[in-house]
Amino acid sequence: MLNSNTATLVACPSCQKKSPWSKENPDRPFCSPRCKLIDLGAWASESYSIPQQTSEEDEIFSEDLAIDPNKSFL
Ligand SMILES: [Zn+2]
Repeated sequence: MLNSNTATLVACPSCQKKSPWSKENPDRPFCSPRCKLIDLGAWASESYSIPQQTSEEDEIFSEDLAIDPNKSFL
């Protein structure tokens, strides 16, 4: 028996406010677009602040991938 009137409540990751997990809430599990942006912003700034110790390795690796042995490399 399905009870479509009961929406599952989820705690907003940003403000912990309970919001319904439903199609009417496009920002789920966030309670609002604002909280969604706050969380995404926090995540982005967090990842940008991580020192990229392997950036040199990554560059060399991607350079290797960019070189196509079938094409002349000038
Ligand atoms: Zn919220």
